[in-house]
Amino acid sequence: MRLDIISIFPEYFAPLDVSLIGKARRTGLLDVRVHDLRSWTHDRHRTVDDTPYGGGPGMVMKPEPWGEALDEIAPAGDAVPRLVVPTPSGRPFTQAMAAELAAEDWLLFACGRYEGIDSRVVAEAATRMPVSEVSLGDFVLAGGEVAVLVMTEAIGRLIPGVLGNAESVADDSFAPGAMESLLEGPVFTKPPVWRERAVPEILLSGNHGAIARWRRDEALRRTAAHRPELLGRLDPERLDKHDRKV
Ligand code: SAM
Repeated sequence: MRLDIISIFPEYFAPLDVSLIGKARRTGLLDVRVHDLRSWTHDRHRTVDDTPYGGGPGMVMKPEPWGEALDEIAPAGDAVPRLVVPTPSGRPFTQAMAAELAAEDWLLFACGRYEGIDSRVVAEAATRMPVSEVSLGDFVLAGGEVAVLVMTEAIGRLIPGVLGNAESVADDSFAPGAMESLLEGPVFTKPPVWRERAVPEILLSGNHGAIARWRRDEALRRTAAHRPELLGRLDPERLDKHDRKV
C-alpha cells in the first residue's frame, strides 16, 4: 500500500520508522512518502495560511499550496488515491473504517493546522478522487499529524503480512465478526500468581470451549461497564442464550 502524507511538520512522522509500521516499510509492504506542504509555496516566507473570510480568530490554510500539492502527488490518471482529511467535523474513525481504508491501494492524508484547510480544497479534490473526512473523536487537536499517525497504525496493522499473527486481529476489540461492538476482556501471562493475584483458573484448564465462553462473558461484562451504548449495537442474531444471561 502507498501512503502519502502532506503536512507543514514532516518531522512529526519520525515514529513511522519504528515498530510494526517501520518494519512494514522496510519489507516493502508499506510505501510511506511524507511531503512538506511548504514546498508548494512561492513567497519568501513560505506562507500557508491567511485570515478567515467573514472574520473571527485564527488563520485558515490557503488553498493554493494544497491544490498544487494534490496536483503533483496525484496527477489525473488511471490510479488515484483516496484523500483522507482528518477533521473534527468528519465521520468518526472506527475499526470498520480502518478495515475499509486498509483495502485501498493508495491513501493520501492531508494534515490541517490552524482553523483547518480552505473548504474549496476538499470540494475540488472530490471532483477527481474519492475523499473521506475523518474525525478521531469529539475533541480538538492542534493539527492533523497525530490523527494521521493514529490512523496509519490502525490501518497498517490490518494489511496482510504486517502483523506476525494475523489471527490476533480477529480477537481484538471491535473486530468484525464475534467481537463487533465488543471490548476485549482482560488478558494474562506468566507467572500464574503475581503479588498474590492468581490468573483465573479457567485459563489454565486447557478447555478451549470453556475458555472461549469465559472470554466472551468478560468481553460482554467489560463492554457493559465501560461502553454500555455499544451493547445496543450487538447483532441479536449473534447473541446466544448464555450471552443474554451475562
Ligand atoms: N476549527 C476546527 C474545528 O473546530 O473543527 C479545528 C481545527 S484544529 C485546531 C486543526 C486541525 O487539527 C484540523 O484541521 C485537523 O486536521 C486536526 N484535528 C483536530 N481535531 C481533530 C479530530 N478530532 N480528528 C481529526 N483531526 C483533528
